[in-house]
Amino acid sequence: MKHCTRRGFLSKGVMTVAGGVMSQTITQSEPHAHLAGKRPVFVSTWNFGQTANEASLRKFEAGGSILDAVEEGIRLTESDQSNASVGDGGKPNAAGKVQLDACIMHGPGAKAGSVGGIEDIAHPISVARAVMEKTPHVMLVGEGAKKFALEQGFTAKNLLTSKQRKEWRNWRREKRKMEAGKDNHDTIALVGLAKDGTLAGGCSTSGLAYKMPGRVGDSPILGSGLYVDNEIGAAGATGVGENIMRFCGSFMVVEYMRQGLTPEEACAETIRRIARLDGRPIEDLHINFIALDKKGRFGAAGTGQGFPYAVTYPGYSDVLQSKALSRKHIGSEGGNDPIEDQLK
Ligand code: ASP
Repeated sequence: MKHCTRRGFLSKGVMTVAGGVMSQTITQSEPHAHLAGKRPVFVSTWNFGQTANEASLRKFEAGGSILDAVEEGIRLTESDQSNASVGDGGKPNAAGKVQLDACIMHGPGAKAGSVGGIEDIAHPISVARAVMEKTPHVMLVGEGAKKFALEQGFTAKNLLTSKQRKEWRNWRREKRKMEAGKDNHDTIALVGLAKDGTLAGGCSTSGLAYKMPGRVGDSPILGSGLYVDNEIGAAGATGVGENIMRFCGSFMVVEYMRQGLTPEEACAETIRRIARLDGRPIEDLHINFIALDKKGRFGAAGTGQGFPYAVTYPGYSDVLQSKALSRKHIGSEGGNDPIEDQLK
């Protein structure tokens, strides 16, 4: 993988997978593993995605469905209080309240569920799944989402840790402006492909730190923070939601895969197109995508330096560096967008 700087695909390695350590010889063909098509495979955003992927793989190998596996991995990240951008321990909004967004999607039948701005519930991904499976609706928000969760047996919990309360108080005292791209947001988007070709995905976040109360980002919006198309592939996003949700970013990635682009190129082309439409320099957008196609090929692209993303399949688990896009990449590289080339 040309933008992979990690050891993972390069040599013999010892990898921790599914709770145990297994040795594996990485063959010559491994530099192209992102195009090799592994099943099952899990792909997720950021370094913390790796342990989530591994939890997903464990669940899958223990007999869970691909949907169960995706939910399990995301729940692990939601439970991690040291992660200040997802679930319990997430950074609060401007009013000091943790408001969470999540969605889940199952390829067969394009089933989906979502919650926006939910408070006091540690596992919004599981509430999103309950919305999908137990209601005739797709999305519940705010008070209604919490009420539904409590009716379903979820327990209420204060998700604001003392560390985050202290930081929020400092922020409020200093009346600092929220600067995107700093250490104040992130999301777990996790997509998975089963051996039989079934796709599923989920996305969960506490959103931008100190956001306006009621602000909902791209993460729970189907087609923006996540999209799963069981014929083609799945994509997920992380970064400044406002720069993703105006463009149906994840849906766009999947549509580029439908047109024949590789997952990595589909992510990159989506970013180029968003940058052209938005007009600002790519570096200022702070957007990142992961993608996985029906064949098990995967890839990612991000603005600026790019971003780390995690890939796990039996015998392999690692964090890779995405393709990085900056100002000079705003045009279509090598005429690889069939539609836009026709329009020129
Ligand atoms: N996309 C998330 C949001 O805008 C934040 C992130 O992924 O960094 O809420």
